[in-house]
Amino acid sequence: MEMAEVGGTPGGGVHRLALSDEDRAARDLFCGWCDGAGLTTSVDRLGNTFARRPGADDDLPPVLLGSHLDSQPSGGRFDGALGVLAALEVIETLNEAGLATLRPLEVVNWTNEEGSRFPPAMVCSGAFAGVFELEYALGRSDAAGRTIGEELDRIGYAGPAPVGGRPIAAALELHIEQGPILEEAGTTIGVVAGVQGMRWYDVRIEGEATHAGPVPLRRRRDPLRGAARVIDRLFASALESDEEARLTVGEFALRPGSRNTVPARVDFSVDLRHPDDVALEALDGRLRLLVDEVSREMGLDGRVEQIWHSPTVRFASECVRAVGDAAAALGYPQMSLFSGAGHDSVYLQRICPTGMVFVPCAGGVSHAEAESVDPADAEAGANVLLHAVLRLAGRA
Ligand SMILES: [Zn+2]
Repeated sequence: MEMAEVGGTPGGGVHRLALSDEDRAARDLFCGWCDGAGLTTSVDRLGNTFARRPGADDDLPPVLLGSHLDSQPSGGRFDGALGVLAALEVIETLNEAGLATLRPLEVVNWTNEEGSRFPPAMVCSGAFAGVFELEYALGRSDAAGRTIGEELDRIGYAGPAPVGGRPIAAALELHIEQGPILEEAGTTIGVVAGVQGMRWYDVRIEGEATHAGPVPLRRRRDPLRGAARVIDRLFASALESDEEARLTVGEFALRPGSRNTVPARVDFSVDLRHPDDVALEALDGRLRLLVDEVSREMGLDGRVEQIWHSPTVRFASECVRAVGDAAAALGYPQMSLFSGAGHDSVYLQRICPTGMVFVPCAGGVSHAEAESVDPADAEAGANVLLHAVLRLAGRA
């Protein structure tokens, strides 16, 4: 709750965009708490922050546990923050119990997980995992043209540590589910099997701007009609596909954007997701076909640009087992599920065995001020994280 005050909104949510002043304040608070827990904090060139507790054999690669402290523009208190602070709670619990682990532990706060200010999402954990070049990540810019590199310098979190390139034994992340499945099932712990595949697109349809009065409808090349037709048919295909398909058009812009002018151009975003890569590929094909087809039907120019593709991820069996066994040993009801949202763990799985623990959130709501978690569920999630970490890091 103290962290939620940093960037806290009147509606009970959080506005803590990556590398904003609020993000700096959250980082300062987090690092202070890490110091208090006796951890040694290092910051890499992308501001990813690692707070380390030595292992009994400190030369072994560490187990990472954590998530992110940045939020959506009108985000909730728990998305990301729960995972970082539960990781710190795990360390404090080990300290209080006087328990050492064989491997070192590192509590991590990843920079710009949300990608809301600097698209794409998870770009800094991606760079850590070698998916993106450092220069690419530093050069991502916000709507005002400020880059990740500039903003890291401004808030004082461009650290000296190199980005990635070191062995990691395993990574674990506790997160709210962000969907309704656990709550509907009355289950406390989600043992995350993997993360569904995602594709992001920018779609542009161009026609001809003209006066809203004198020009008859049949003479117009109206890109809005084309966009509406593409979107409606694409939703019909996604609904026919199967229960798992997800389609979202979250951004939509008309140019020039005048009440009495037929637009010249429409730009919109498309977000497609599916746990099965073959089904996702089929939806990708459908989108491209529809834009071509409708452009031809209506005399428009349409194009589709894929700006991001994250294939389906399956987490390492040893981590999935560690989470499931920990929940079972603690007596919490559990179920296996796929994540509908992207997480830093998607990229971590490329370089080390990775797993996630989900806890329910009220009504499945997230990326919203109303986001809420039952404290008993947060506690259960932290306990599962602790016991899964002990399984992966080994007791000294
Ligand atoms: Zn998150």
